[in-house]
Amino acid sequence: MRLWVNGGLRDVEDARVSVLDHGMTVGDGIFETVKAVHGRPFALTLHLERLTRSAHGLGLPEPDHDEIRHACAAVLDANPMPLGRLRITYTGGLSPLGSDRGTDGPTLVVALGATAERPDTTAAVTVPWTRNERGALAGLKTTSYAENVVALARAHEQGASEALFANTVGQLCEGTGSNVFVVLDGEIHTPPLASGCLAGITRALAAEWTGARETDLPMDVLHRAQEVFLTSTLRDVQAVVRIDGRESGTAPGPVTAKAMRIFRERAAADPDPR
Ligand code: PMP
Repeated sequence: MRLWVNGGLRDVEDARVSVLDHGMTVGDGIFETVKAVHGRPFALTLHLERLTRSAHGLGLPEPDHDEIRHACAAVLDANPMPLGRLRITYTGGLSPLGSDRGTDGPTLVVALGATAERPDTTAAVTVPWTRNERGALAGLKTTSYAENVVALARAHEQGASEALFANTVGQLCEGTGSNVFVVLDGEIHTPPLASGCLAGITRALAAEWTGARETDLPMDVLHRAQEVFLTSTLRDVQAVVRIDGRESGTAPGPVTAKAMRIFRERAAADPDPR
């Protein structure tokens, strides 16, 4: 495996970032996961735009899109695989211990791992912790993901692949690594960005392509909705057929199945949608 670290390709064994990197010591970093099909990244422009918004949110220096595009291409060339996940990590860089950022400039790492197509259906659980839609990090894709790690472990313990959060006012927000959609009376709804959810790229594309609406949704909608589905870079559109142990079927419902089809067709037709 060859990956990109601060200006060049390295073998993974020789790839070095300081142990005092601010991303390592205090989680001062942002990231993107980009799907790559046969060496071709999907929606890289939208991912780079979100990376820049996250950088602005944390006050990190402006990411250089040309450099990151070049790094992604180099890493993809060096590691051919049918289906990969590019991981772009951008942190505050080498820093003295403490919360202040150092002056050496940011760290950029671009790595690639193999991944597999996700099944069409999955199970989810709700968790008792809340997303703070008013917090400084709300909606930013930072490397402070420990809360998601804990919630996802809870999901795995219960045989599910995703954990769904409410926000501080009890409304449906998002999953640990996905956005959530519900079908009510044939119409598709997803929580608004004000719920504290990440501005998922799959969420935006799926909402535009299916005509989904942004709606404030109480948590119990998960048990009232005719269908529930998740969206993310690695899941695309994935039906949720069991929530908190309650089964609603074994196959995607008709609205979700149509959303899956539309997403696949549109994504295949345009690998760099805007
Ligand atoms: N919410 C969170 C917390 C995530 O980590 C992700 C995955 N990036 C998503 C939603 C889905 O976003 P996307 O469609 O851009 O992968």
